[in-house]
Amino acid sequence: MAMKNVIATPEYRQDTLLEEWWNSCEKGNLLPALKKHWRIFVLSVFGNNHDPGKEERLAHKFLFRPMEYFLCRQDPEVVFEELKAKNMPSQLCGKVFKTGEPTYSCRDCANDPTCVLCIDCFQNGAHKNHRYKMNTSGGGGYCDCGDQEAWTSHPFCNLHSPNEVNQDEKNPIETLPVDLTDRASALFMAALQYIVEILTWNQCDNLPSDLQVEGELNDTYITMLFNDEVHTFDQVIKTLQRAVKHCTAQQAREFATLVDREGRATVYRGCFTSCEQCRTIIDSTSRHGSKPLKVQVMHTVVVAHQTFCLRLMVWLQKMIEKSDGLRRLFCLLSMKPQEDGKSLMEKLLLHDTQLWKVARILSHQLLMAGVLMDQECKKQFAVIFTKWYPNVMRDFARDDHDHEVCVASLSVQIYTVPSLARMLVTDHDLLDVILVPFLAACEEKKNANGVLSLSKADRTPSFKRACFMLYDLKYALLCKPTSDEWSDKLRESFLRGHQSFLKLLKMMQGMDEVKRQTGMHLEYEPEWEGAFNLQMRVDDVISSFTEWCSTDRTVYIEAYRQAAQMLSQCRDTTQKSEQHTVCGHTVKCLKYDVQSQPVSIHLPLSRYLAGLHVYMGDYNLQFGCSELNVQGLDPVKMIEPPLRVQVLIAQSQAGLWRRNGYALLNQIYFYHNVKCRQEMYDKDILMLQIGASAVDSNEFLIHLLNRYGLLLWIRPEYDVPTGQDDNVRQTIMLAEEFLNLLLIILGERYVPGLGQVTHEDTLKREVIHLLCISPMSNSELSKNLPDSTNLKADIEDAIHAVANFRKPTSVGTAGSGKFELKNECYKEFNPYFYHYCRTDQSQAEETQIKRKKEEKSANHTLPPPVPPKFTPQFAQISNLLQSDVLVHILSLILQRSVAVRSRSWSETQLDRVLHLIGLALHEQRRNIHEGNHNFDFIGKALKGEPNFTQLLESLVTDPKNISHDSTKDLLSWILQKFIEVRQMTSSAEANGPVEQLASSSKEENEAAKKRKARLAAKRKEKIIAKISQMQQNFIRDNADLFESTDADSSLTRGTSEMDISESAHHETPVALGKYQSLPCSIGITKATCILCQEEQEISHNSRAMVLAGFVQRSTVMSQCKSRNPTDGENLDPLFTSSDLHVGSFTNSCGHTMHADCWQSFFQAILVKERRRLSRIPHSLSYNIVQLEYLCPLCESLSNTVIPLVPALHSLVTDSDLCDVNLSFGDWLDGLQKTVKNATKQESSSASKGDPFPFLPSSLSSITKMMADSVASNFQLLWQYVNNTKGGRFSESLMEMMKKFAKDVYSFGLGVDPDDMNHRVSIVAWNTCAYTIINLEQYLRYENKPLFGASPSRNVDCINALVKFAAVCSHIMPQEVIKKHCLRLLSGLLSNGLGEGDDPQCIIDVDMFHYLVAVTMALPSLYTEGTTASNLPLNSLNNQYILELVLTAHIVQVMLLHDRSQDGEEGGMEMENDADSVALMSMYTEIRRKAGCLPPSNNDPLPWQLTRHIKRAVLPFLRCATVLYHNLTGVPIPAQLQEWTEEVEPFCSYLSLPTSFSELFLNQGELLERVVNQWCSSDVLRSRLYSASSRSVVSYPLPVNHLIDLPDDYSQLINQISSFTCPSSKGNDSQLPTMCLVCGLVVCSQSYCCQTEIKDMKVGAATEHTYRCGAGVGILLRVRECQIVLLAGTKGCFIPAPYVDSYGETDQGLRRGNPLHLCKDSYKNLQKMWFTHCIPETVAHNIESHMNFMSIHWQHL
Ligand SMILES: [Zn+2]
Ligand SMILES: [Zn+2]
Ligand SMILES: [Zn+2]
Ligand SMILES: [Zn+2]
Ligand SMILES: [Zn+2]
Ligand SMILES: [Zn+2]
Ligand SMILES: [Zn+2]
Repeated sequence: MAMKNVIATPEYRQDTLLEEWWNSCEKGNLLPALKKHWRIFVLSVFGNNHDPGKEERLAHKFLFRPMEYFLCRQDPEVVFEELKAKNMPSQLCGKVFKTGEPTYSCRDCANDPTCVLCIDCFQNGAHKNHRYKMNTSGGGGYCDCGDQEAWTSHPFCNLHSPNEVNQDEKNPIETLPVDLTDRASALFMAALQYIVEILTWNQCDNLPSDLQVEGELNDTYITMLFNDEVHTFDQVIKTLQRAVKHCTAQQAREFATLVDREGRATVYRGCFTSCEQCRTIIDSTSRHGSKPLKVQVMHTVVVAHQTFCLRLMVWLQKMIEKSDGLRRLFCLLSMKPQEDGKSLMEKLLLHDTQLWKVARILSHQLLMAGVLMDQECKKQFAVIFTKWYPNVMRDFARDDHDHEVCVASLSVQIYTVPSLARMLVTDHDLLDVILVPFLAACEEKKNANGVLSLSKADRTPSFKRACFMLYDLKYALLCKPTSDEWSDKLRESFLRGHQSFLKLLKMMQGMDEVKRQTGMHLEYEPEWEGAFNLQMRVDDVISSFTEWCSTDRTVYIEAYRQAAQMLSQCRDTTQKSEQHTVCGHTVKCLKYDVQSQPVSIHLPLSRYLAGLHVYMGDYNLQFGCSELNVQGLDPVKMIEPPLRVQVLIAQSQAGLWRRNGYALLNQIYFYHNVKCRQEMYDKDILMLQIGASAVDSNEFLIHLLNRYGLLLWIRPEYDVPTGQDDNVRQTIMLAEEFLNLLLIILGERYVPGLGQVTHEDTLKREVIHLLCISPMSNSELSKNLPDSTNLKADIEDAIHAVANFRKPTSVGTAGSGKFELKNECYKEFNPYFYHYCRTDQSQAEETQIKRKKEEKSANHTLPPPVPPKFTPQFAQISNLLQSDVLVHILSLILQRSVAVRSRSWSETQLDRVLHLIGLALHEQRRNIHEGNHNFDFIGKALKGEPNFTQLLESLVTDPKNISHDSTKDLLSWILQKFIEVRQMTSSAEANGPVEQLASSSKEENEAAKKRKARLAAKRKEKIIAKISQMQQNFIRDNADLFESTDADSSLTRGTSEMDISESAHHETPVALGKYQSLPCSIGITKATCILCQEEQEISHNSRAMVLAGFVQRSTVMSQCKSRNPTDGENLDPLFTSSDLHVGSFTNSCGHTMHADCWQSFFQAILVKERRRLSRIPHSLSYNIVQLEYLCPLCESLSNTVIPLVPALHSLVTDSDLCDVNLSFGDWLDGLQKTVKNATKQESSSASKGDPFPFLPSSLSSITKMMADSVASNFQLLWQYVNNTKGGRFSESLMEMMKKFAKDVYSFGLGVDPDDMNHRVSIVAWNTCAYTIINLEQYLRYENKPLFGASPSRNVDCINALVKFAAVCSHIMPQEVIKKHCLRLLSGLLSNGLGEGDDPQCIIDVDMFHYLVAVTMALPSLYTEGTTASNLPLNSLNNQYILELVLTAHIVQVMLLHDRSQDGEEGGMEMENDADSVALMSMYTEIRRKAGCLPPSNNDPLPWQLTRHIKRAVLPFLRCATVLYHNLTGVPIPAQLQEWTEEVEPFCSYLSLPTSFSELFLNQGELLERVVNQWCSSDVLRSRLYSASSRSVVSYPLPVNHLIDLPDDYSQLINQISSFTCPSSKGNDSQLPTMCLVCGLVVCSQSYCCQTEIKDMKVGAATEHTYRCGAGVGILLRVRECQIVLLAGTKGCFIPAPYVDSYGETDQGLRRGNPLHLCKDSYKNLQKMWFTHCIPETVAHNIESHMNFMSIHWQHL
């Protein structure tokens, strides 16, 4: 790098400098003096590319400390302390939220949902006892605690409760010393001026002249890369690696992360030419799509000053936070207009979008800490912000940064403050200020008709960004004035805004018109989403405007007039009219054909007017009254647009719009959807109701009939066939829809102002109808209810008023509770409820009929409910019911129902007509009660010939056309009701016979029904009998098929341990030693192949059978979580480490197959998948490359098969088991001699480099050294167990044994398969041991007995594993097994542990693994021939091995006693028996030899020691029992089939003494020597007394469990909010993810923390999982409240075990209800993890969630 002169740190004297500054300050020109200093020092501090720490130090020394001294004139710390003491701390908390911090809002007290608290304020305040919501912050925004305007009550927490002194009146600046104020003013002003100057400076290669260094600039430049929203991380990384010299992938990744986080990054430093070269390459190679990456070459000096600027802003923020006086001072200065009329603050505001990300964020933070924290200044700032609002929004729309990093996002901090908003609306026209720029943005989107057209083709982001203004509008309208808060100024300003708003609605009226397509289908799906998106954003604003209008009469009238005028200006194509006459009423109708002319579903203006209209009654106004005085306000014209929409939908239902495709169907769907309907469908119905109340009833109906095209249909002659029947079916459906609309217009009165109801009533009715469909959980309910923010009633209150909460029934499942409707509410059920879709309606009806039947009430009718009364303004609507036209229609349909044949009749029509009649009867009844005689439906209904009674009666007596029971029931109910009401009317006379007829017909009807029911029952019986006959035949024909579906029934097991308790009564069975009991057959003896369904006996020489199995590496039992799993390649698995830090686990679903059947099955998958893999990689839930497959029967994840070996004792003849007489001492002696005399092999043999080149010498050479009797017995030990009975294992069994051994080896160690590796058999023994220990620990954790409590698949699996371990030496060369055996023996009997590179000692070895290995290896020690073939069935060998290993284990326990967590507390004091005393002396002796400290107070009493030992060795004994039970087949005694913590039953089964001291005493001096050897090892000493690299365990090994989680979820969120990314110093992590196994938090799914494992890029979670869980992980994504399960490169998400008070989880934290830990579901997770079910769960979840397939889980 060519540096002309290095920027050295120049001479520096603080005193002189300060003197100069103070002098300049007094003269009023501080800035030039500061600049003079900065000119040199900024460059030397920030221009030299120092490391961050040094830069920080230098900046403090040369730049910030002088300023602090300047300000204070003495030690700054002292002055700041003084200021603090005088400070009146602001009552505002104002804590600025970081990403991911929890925020709380109170649903009871918050003024709006943007009012939030930080966790400290929340926990120290009253709202935690209210109904609150929590969320995680997306960054930005601050805590509103202390802001009286944000809360209706409890505005302060205990931390921010107001001071005694009234501070409001006092200007805080006055508390500052005068001279300090002067200096602070000068310094703040200068600093701000400098900041603004630098940040708005737009040249890259030089500075303003007063900052430019004297002389020529060095040629040191920087290539600066900027953020954009177009390029992906990978693209940036690739480009950088290409463009920047020597840029590694890691560096490129860091640059990319930095650019993303800060908005820019220095990617290269050097001379101008090389920087420019770098820039050119980036510019030319990054043109992905259209735009290249933004990159600039900047001179170092410019960048240095920019960097200083950022620091200066941080420093200023720190200064003003020291005192509210300084803060006020700063705010006033920043808002003081400069020469050009703009304040410095305004300049920053207007320059925002030209800054890079971090500069913006810092300047916003300075604003928040300054002006927004000071009530007085906030007001001024609000005015300034509003003044520049159009400019700010225009810049924002053109910008490409996220909303939260733009200054536009500050609007929420201002406009949600009611007092500010009210002030701005009144005095600064806020509504218009917001709407005008938005309308301007809309202007560009208008089509030729002046209507908005938001097509995808020209969907620029700028309009989407402009829509943020609608949020501001919503905020501005939050402060609704009460009726006495209105002033003339407010009215004027509001109405101005209102007028602008109507312009917007007018532009939306008629968006996306549709025209019925005939002939061809539409070629393109037309646009529809854009319009709906806009509509949804405007929804809140519409309802706010309506509410504002409703509080002031003057405003209301003017607003109504404005809206009506605006509506009348809307384009309308209808000019012509035509006349129609029905029932003598002639009406002039508008001519319009929905089938051929365009219709739009977007009518916001009409709907807005409808919304306003319902308030008319509040002001005693009426349609067309003089006060309103609206020209051309014609109700017929007003109902026209909504009516067209209803007809359009009816026609679409009738299939007339099929060719218009999905766009129309989607529009109709969303029109009715709960998210949109409030301002769409509901308002259309309201408008029709307004019409019905304002237009003559007959005329209204004729308009409807005309628009529906039903004028012909209502003519009686329509029913006569004319030969042209094409449209009849469509007409029938349209008629049904028409009747439905009438039911809605008449029955839907739950709108306050329309019906006499409250907002609560409305909401309750919604809930009732939802719950009539089925009981629902809280989240289901809230999903189907309108957004709570727009409601004036509380959802929860409404729910509780009508429903009961029922907790989840089954304990232990994490299911959610459901709400059930209260009984008294069912009568409100209306099947024609207008918010039901068709499916809802039929489902609800079905549920209700079922409920009625279950109630066993005689009456199954679901009559129309009694609707509330209309308000007086709308009372005329009910007049429809007695209008001539309607009565005519009702009568017509009743007649058609009675008629023998009718071509236009349908049962649906009749059902609707009956409901209409029901409504009319309810209305009549109400009128009678109220003494109102104007309503006379009955009179009209009885007029015609035949009249209604006659028609109804004939239908009741002969319901031949009616198929539904519900309609029949309703018919009877209507007739009954009709008669009742008729009696009530004065015209009721001589109705006796009618009544009789009605009731008799009813009786007859009942009788007929019963008869029918009997017949039906009989028929049903016959059918059932027939079906069951057929089923049985089918089962007989397919017998094996049925058997195979049940896994358990397909296997024949030998006597299972449950069945043997019988025999156990006689004599307690003993598994080992001389008195070994007779074995019985355990495990599978006969099985059915699930693939070919054939049954197969398990024997050594028949077709081999296998179990589907899964082998995985496991760390779940690790006692040392910090230790990484050893690399499988270099692991010597012979002595398993006592901390069990990694092992291999095998499990099975228990399904059996023929080996050959499985082979062809697996081959078929391979072929199929290979073909598929080439097309779509990663398309499976299992990894075929890892040999994974799904069990063909139960789809359990599997990756191997476990061969089934027959019961071992069946392989040897009984005579083999002869008596051997050998003492333990002699046995031990023989083995030790074997070890000592092992012959060293020729190094020339095949095993070159063999670390253990020994083999046992011949048996005779050992026995030579023994006494004769001992020698012969010792010889006998090795002779009898030859597997000679049935000959060798079959080919196929051998093959499967090899296959399983190979798989266990490669999956269990995580290495490539290697048949001949000497470790193969060891790993097979180890997986057997590890699996048994895991089962034992799990059962212990659950307090379940060892036998009888596990599912049979586990029992079968362990049995198969033990037997396989026993015979697996058959597939290995004999020498290898012999060597293993020798090494194992030398480990305990000689100094075998302490040798080698990694010396070990007695406490390093897991004794159960050792026991299994030595048991399986020992029989091969002296076999002859090339293949080992002895079975581990010698009861004496086994007994002595167990004694030896248990002795070793007890020594371990004694050595580690003081580390045990097993406290001595509790339990009764006991006698010290002889055993205890003996053990105690051994304990002392052993510890003395091991160099333990002399006895101290910590040493236990003898009885305590014994108790401890028993407790500590119990797990080992339990494991040994499982092992020998499965090995020998000796049945389990009854005692052990129950949970016990006693050791005695185990000892007696295992033929061990119950006094453990006997294991040591009288066993010969050899044992003593061996024990001595264990204890005097140097390695042991260093383990115990020096901080060795390896941790030391304690016994009994505790069972691992997942980390403890706090009960309250927000605690967890808070805990995690302080977490920062470990690889990019101190920066927020987007997805902090917590390992539930060890509690570590990692920065997941982010480029900053990506690493590589085996050449694969992995995220931090995968990397951690690889180390912590050997590739299997269970982690919690705290901010999203979901669990990630990882297994290799696959994974899935499941909900976190946290539930709200309704028992529901909240994955993604969307609902925000307070969450608490669900102990049961956490326990289930614990179980899933501990029993190794994570890979299985992942595979199943991937199967059911297709989207999991596409996630790159390894990047998490
Ligand atoms: Zn707070
Ligand atoms: Zn507070
Ligand atoms: Zn509250
Ligand atoms: Zn088969
Ligand atoms: Zn299975
Ligand atoms: Zn990170
Ligand atoms: Zn972990």
